[in-house]
Amino acid sequence: MTNSKLKINFNPGQAAIPQSVLQQAADAVLNYNNTGLSILGIPHRGKLFADILEEANTLVKDLCNLGNEYEVLWMHGGGRLQFAMIPMNYLGDGETAGYIDSGYWAADAISYAKHYGNVAILASSKQDNYTHLPAWPASIDNTLAYLHITSNNTIYGTQCSHIPKVDVPLIADMSSDIFSREMDYTHCDMFYAVAQKNIGMAGVTMVAVKKDMLQRTKRNLPPMVSYAAHAAANGVLNTPPVFAIYTALLMLRWTKEKTIADIEKENNAKTALLYKEIERNSLFDCIVNIKTDRSKMNVCFTATKPEYEKAFIRFCEEHNVTGIEGHRSVGAFRASLYNAISLADVQQLVALMQEFETINNK
Ligand code: PMP
Repeated sequence: MTNSKLKINFNPGQAAIPQSVLQQAADAVLNYNNTGLSILGIPHRGKLFADILEEANTLVKDLCNLGNEYEVLWMHGGGRLQFAMIPMNYLGDGETAGYIDSGYWAADAISYAKHYGNVAILASSKQDNYTHLPAWPASIDNTLAYLHITSNNTIYGTQCSHIPKVDVPLIADMSSDIFSREMDYTHCDMFYAVAQKNIGMAGVTMVAVKKDMLQRTKRNLPPMVSYAAHAAANGVLNTPPVFAIYTALLMLRWTKEKTIADIEKENNAKTALLYKEIERNSLFDCIVNIKTDRSKMNVCFTATKPEYEKAFIRFCEEHNVTGIEGHRSVGAFRASLYNAISLADVQQLVALMQEFETINNK
């Protein structure tokens, strides 16, 4: 049964999930694979869940071209718990961690790290309200405990073109662009992504970490905040978010079937179309002016007159299109074009922008 009443959902996360994934997730709530059990009632230490976890881990490694030197973990606590756990685990007393301050979430990660040790902000674009990426530092001190980057800045709509290779452990927050394009995931010693954008539903965060990083824990931590303890417990240190992990598995299967190469092609086509329309349309302007810094996941734009802002959001809502309000710290509009958003969805938004222009220029 498909739900033809679903709106086109440009929300930034929680976000759109493909209809086929929603259907399978809904079926599993009622009766998981004809086991006579709801996915919400399967034992988390039994074989049913062990198989889900194993397939999900294998698919992550497969999609990111990771070898056995990486461990995949599924953690509670969202992106913010990672902001805390990274310094708890990897920033020892008297050590310094490097951070690139490229947006709201990068800055939040920095504020969490400061609870545990010294932070060196190696580059920042805060002075320009993060409307472009900061210039990459000329050199990186190789005594840093690690370097933290954010590959896509969800709120400001900027995105790194590639994952750099550095001489210190590299940790990347890939929450809002994982699986959206081919990337050098192996340049990272650890990367993580909240699920509620390209991996399904909120409630779980995927962490891929090199096994040798697990040995580098700097503090005597309680198990729940220790990566090594989670890995040693094979992902069931406590009761995991089984349904969120199952939904992630369905998204991973969907991603694998579509292939990242084709997803990337569609993402390129989606953003090319939308940025072109924003530049052409007399009612809208791009917020990120440096084209190579523009995100292919979160397209931020503004209105040429303030009165168009609420009016365009209302116009979209009247036409079954939702979620294009910008974040409160940037304002105006943001269309999040995660993998579940199709080119046809973006064409629909562009058609509305054109219709809105015609009405307002009369
Ligand atoms: N990092 C990035 C890049 C994000 O976009 C977000 C949330 N939008 C977070 C971290 C924080 O995630 P959570 O709300 O799950 O803590």
